[in-house]
Amino acid sequence: MSAPRLEIDLDRLHHNAATLVRRLAGQGIAVTAVGKACLGRPEIVRTWLAAGVTSIGDSRIETLEGLARGGLTTPTLLIRTPMLSQVEQVVAHVTSSCHSEPLVIQALAAAAQRQRRRHGVLLMVELGDRREGLLPRDLEAIARLTLGLPSLRLVGIGTNLGCQHGVAPDAANMAELSALADALEARLGIRLELVSGGNSANLPWLARGGAPGRINHLRLGEALLLGREPLARCPIPGLHTDAFSLVGELIEVKRKPSRPWGEQGLTSFLATAAAPAPDRGWRQRGLLALGVQDVDPADLVPPPGVSIVGASSDHLVVEAERPLRVGEELRFQPGYSALLRAMTSPFVHKHCLKG
Ligand SMILES: *Cc1c(COP(=O)(O)O)cnc(C)c1O
Repeated sequence: MSAPRLEIDLDRLHHNAATLVRRLAGQGIAVTAVGKACLGRPEIVRTWLAAGVTSIGDSRIETLEGLARGGLTTPTLLIRTPMLSQVEQVVAHVTSSCHSEPLVIQALAAAAQRQRRRHGVLLMVELGDRREGLLPRDLEAIARLTLGLPSLRLVGIGTNLGCQHGVAPDAANMAELSALADALEARLGIRLELVSGGNSANLPWLARGGAPGRINHLRLGEALLLGREPLARCPIPGLHTDAFSLVGELIEVKRKPSRPWGEQGLTSFLATAAAPAPDRGWRQRGLLALGVQDVDPADLVPPPGVSIVGASSDHLVVEAERPLRVGEELRFQPGYSALLRAMTSPFVHKHCLKG
C-alpha cells in the first residue's frame, strides 16, 4: 500500500459520533459535526449522518458546496463568516452561516433575494476568546437588522471560545450567552431556534456538571475525530482517540553520530540557528519520506521506542531503540493540526477502513 497514508477507521468515528450525539441529546443539546479537519470527506460525513448527526458544519464554502453537489440534503452550517466575495456561493449551497458583520449580512440578504432563497443567520457573540464575534452590546441592533431582511432567517446566537486564546467555556461565559438569548427574545418578541454554546472545548465544562441553561447546540470537530477535548488535549471517556493513524515509510536507516559536523547556520524551518546538540554518541537514525508538506511534525505521536528528532519539507528524522529497516512502515498518531495538514496534503493517501 502507498505511503505516506492516513488510515481512517470509520467504525471508531461512528462510535464517537453516536456516543456524543446520545450523551448531549440527554442534555437537550444538538450537534453540528464540523468536518473542516477532514475537508468534509464524504465517507466521514456519511458515517456521521448514520450515527445520528443532523447537521454538517465547515469553515470552507468550497467543502460545503462539494457536499451539496454530491447530494447531501442534511442542513449545513458555514461556521466562518463568509467573505463578501463569496455570498452568492454561500446562499446557493449552504443552509445557514455564522455572522458578525452587518455589511456581510446585508450582502448575503441581497444575494438570497436575487436567488429567491431564504438563508439562516447565526449571530456570533464575542465572549472573551477574541476571535470572531460581535460585542454583546451590538447584538440587539444586528439582530434587528437581520430580522428586517426578509430573505434571511435569524436562527439563533452562538459563541466560540477555546481557539484564539484558549479561553475555557465556564459557568460565567455560558450563563452570559443564555442571558443574552433571553434578553434578545424578550426585547424583540422572538424565539431563537439555536443557542450555540461552542465547540469541543465546551465538553469538559458540561462533563463537570455545567448547566446548559439556554444552550441547545454545539459545533463539534475534534471530539468526534480525535476523541479528545482541545483545551488540555485530554481523552474524552468512552471515545476512541485513535480513529486516525498516519503511516510513513523509512527510506534510510543508518547509525550516525548524534552531533552535526561543521559550522551551523539557520535550519530549513526555524528562523533561529539550531541549538548545539548534546553529544549522545552514535545513534540509529531513520529517515521517513514524510515532511512538512504532508503533516505538522510537531503534532505527531511516534510509535513506542521511536522518537522524532526533526523534520524538513520532505524528511522526518527519527531515532529508535529497536532495529529499523528500509521499507518498514511506522505508524504515528496525528493531533488536530497534523490531521488537518495530512488531510490537506495531496501527497498523503487517504485510506478508509470499515468493518
Ligand atoms: C473549528 C470550529 C468548531 C469546531 O471546533 P472543535 O474544537 O474541532 O470542536 C466550531 N465552531 C467554530 C466557529 C470553529 O471554527
